[in-house]
Amino acid sequence: MTLPDRLRQEIAARRADLIALTQDLIRIPTRNPPGENYREICDYLDRRLRASGFTTELIRATAAPGDSDRHPRWNIVARREGARPGACVHFNSHIDVVEVGHGWSVDPFSGAVIDGKIYGRGACDMKGGLAASIIAAEAFVATCPDYAGAIEISGTADEESGGFGGVAYLAERGYFSPGRVDHVIIPEPLGKDRICLGHRGVWWAEIETHGEIAHGSMPFLGDCAVRHMGAVIARMEEQLFPALAARRTEMPVVPEGARQSTLNINSIHGGEPEQDADYTGLPSPCVPDRCRMVIDRRFLIEEDIGAVETEIRDLLEALRQGRPGFDYTIRELHRVLPTMTERDAPVVGAVARAVDQVFGHAADYVVSPGTYDQKHIDRIGRLKNCIAYGPGILDLAHKPDEYVGIDDMEHSARVMALALAELLGV
Ligand SMILES: [Zn+2]
Repeated sequence: MTLPDRLRQEIAARRADLIALTQDLIRIPTRNPPGENYREICDYLDRRLRASGFTTELIRATAAPGDSDRHPRWNIVARREGARPGACVHFNSHIDVVEVGHGWSVDPFSGAVIDGKIYGRGACDMKGGLAASIIAAEAFVATCPDYAGAIEISGTADEESGGFGGVAYLAERGYFSPGRVDHVIIPEPLGKDRICLGHRGVWWAEIETHGEIAHGSMPFLGDCAVRHMGAVIARMEEQLFPALAARRTEMPVVPEGARQSTLNINSIHGGEPEQDADYTGLPSPCVPDRCRMVIDRRFLIEEDIGAVETEIRDLLEALRQGRPGFDYTIRELHRVLPTMTERDAPVVGAVARAVDQVFGHAADYVVSPGTYDQKHIDRIGRLKNCIAYGPGILDLAHKPDEYVGIDDMEHSARVMALALAELLGV
C-alpha cells in the first residue's frame, strides 16, 4: 500500500476520535475576553498529547495583557522527537473563542453533531483545526514511527485579543525561533484546499475633535465637536474612501472585496455619555465639546505604514487649515505590518503538493483580510516559513451556528499528515 493510502486509512480509522476530540474541545468554553478555562483546556490537551508520546510544557504568560490570577493566560507546547535529527514542523492553534452572541439554534458549547457537521462556538475558529492537526500527527506517527526531526503542537491563548498572552509571549521566549522550529502551520479555517500566505496590515487610531461646551439653546456660544467630526467624515467620503478603493494589491486577499485598502469607522462618541437603560429622565441641553472616533485602517503589502498614517494626518491638517475652529488630536492604538510568505517557501510547497494529492486539484493561494498569530511568528520569531492551513469556512467564524464539517476535518488531516511525511523525510 502506498504511503498516502496508509495515512488515509489511519485517519479514517480515527474518525470517531476526531469527532469526540472536537466535541471535547468545544465543551470547554474558552471565551475571550475575559479568557476563561485556559488551564482546563491546556490540561485536557496535556493528557491527550502525553498519551500520544509528546513531551509537554504548560506556560503561563505571566503579566501579559489580560493575565490575572482569576484569568491566567495558559499555553501548551507539546513536542514529539523523531528517530533521528531533522526539521521541526509546528502546528499552532489558538484555544480561545469569541463571545457567543445571539441567534443560535443549538447550544453553543454542546458540540452537537447534525448532518455531518459539528456545531459550537469555536468549531471552525479553530478547535476543529486543532483537532485535525492532532489526529494528523497521531496518524502520521503511527504510520511512520521512524520519521526525522520533530513534531510540535501548541495551543495558545488570546489570539482573538491580539495574541500577546499567547504566541507573542512564546515567540519572545524563543518558541518560534528558527533553530527550534522550521515550518509552522496554523490551522485557522481558511478552507481545506486553500493555503493562506499571510495577512494585510492594521493601523488603528483614535481621532478626537475639540469644541466648546455651551447651552444647547445657544449653540453659537459654543463650538460643536460632533459637527467638526462630521466634517472629518465628509472629507473621508469625498477623498479617502475613493482613494483607498482604487488601491489594489497583488496579495491574493479573500474575499475579493478586501483586495484593496479599507477603512472602517469602528465607533463614534460625542457629547454627554449615554445613560443606563433604566434612566428615565431626559438628556441635558449641551453643545458637545469632545467627539472621539476609532478608525480601523487595513493596508496592503505595497503600502508603507508611515504613508498610511500621514494620509490620515494630512486630511486632518487640511481641515485645520480650512475650517474655522477645527482642532483635533490623534493617537495610535495598534499597528501590525502586513506579512506574506513566499510561494516557494518549503512549507507552502509541501502543503500544496499534499492538497493536490488529496483533492486532485491545485491549491488556491489566499491572504487573510484580518491578522492572526502569523504576525508574531514573523516579526518576533523571525520565522518566515509559516502559513495558515486548516478546515472550516472562514465566513462562519464568529457567527451564530458556527460549525465545522467532519469530512473537511478528515480531508485536512490527510493534507497535514502528507505534509509531515514530506517535511520529516519519509
Ligand atoms: Zn481564529
